[in-house]
Amino acid sequence: KHTGKNKTLAYDSAFEQRYSGHMQMETELRQAINADQLMLYYQPRLELSTGNIICLEALVRWNHPIHGIITPNNFIPLAEESGLIVPLGEWVLRQACLQKMKWLEAGIVAYQVAVNISPRQFQEEAFAEKVIHIIEQTGIDPSFLEFEITESSIMHDMDKTVSILEKLCGIGISISIDDFGIGYSSLSHLRHFPIHCLKIDRSFVKNIHSNQNDLAITHAIIQLGHSLNLQVVAEGVEEMSQLEILKGTTCTTIQGYLLSPPVSVYDLENNGNLLNFHI
Ligand code: C2E
Ligand code: MG
Ligand code: MG
Ligand code: MG
Repeated sequence: KHTGKNKTLAYDSAFEQRYSGHMQMETELRQAINADQLMLYYQPRLELSTGNIICLEALVRWNHPIHGIITPNNFIPLAEESGLIVPLGEWVLRQACLQKMKWLEAGIVAYQVAVNISPRQFQEEAFAEKVIHIIEQTGIDPSFLEFEITESSIMHDMDKTVSILEKLCGIGISISIDDFGIGYSSLSHLRHFPIHCLKIDRSFVKNIHSNQNDLAITHAIIQLGHSLNLQVVAEGVEEMSQLEILKGTTCTTIQGYLLSPPVSVYDLENNGNLLNFHI
């Protein structure tokens, strides 16, 4: 109050603007889900031992009628907060399954499809049942699916997590831990979860060619994964020097701009070089 009336007003109106913007965004996002404004881009993941692309990660974009293509960091947090992530996540999963079926029909058979599952979605009552329903609706073979979950998803309620993961694995879905290393998963628990893959967060991979500590952490995660018999993906590989270092380890797969950024289905299908990429 002592700062004077004008300042208080300025603050209030700025706050109000942000609040109403937030509400409006939520309303628009709710509509976007049904109005065909969401789309999936795909980013390839390459297996180091063969040099083949073995997986495509589905990454959602919002094709907004006014603002153009909006990346997920700008709306996933709001979707989480508002609960919209549940219908949004269902749309993503269904769409990814349908796309995989289309590729199969077109004779493109080699790739798994990875889908990001947010903590709120994962903890939802009957999540596994919804997944099974979408699998039945779309006719996809669940062994083509991988779910990327974060450490915060699984460290919530241990018994519940194990039971959901066992259901998902039971029907053939692979599970990877995304952004591994920046959350706080307990290693002793990790050992008991039916998971298949660790994805090293790109903040570690970023400087492996220049920072000894980041290199040490990356090595440690790769060794952990190797000794637990898990696949290990290095995320965010942008430079040849990073790739060279990773080739000298037991890291199994890489993803990153060096190979390709996430691209639309059109670009994926029409840039022959991309799916035939070989190292
Ligand atoms: P993520 O799952 O860890 O996905 C990787 C993100 O890193 C993607 O950003 C990708 O474009 C970016 N990336 C990949 N390679 C490189 C690289 O070499 N350098 C750099 N600097 N970045 C790279 P994107 O597509 O903006 O997605 C951001 C995050 O949003 C994702 O992180 C994921 O957590 C979330 N997200 C995306 N789609 C979905 C979705 O359908 N559902 C949910 N729940 N979350 C999603
Ligand atoms: Mg991911
Ligand atoms: Mg990640
Ligand atoms: Mg992430």
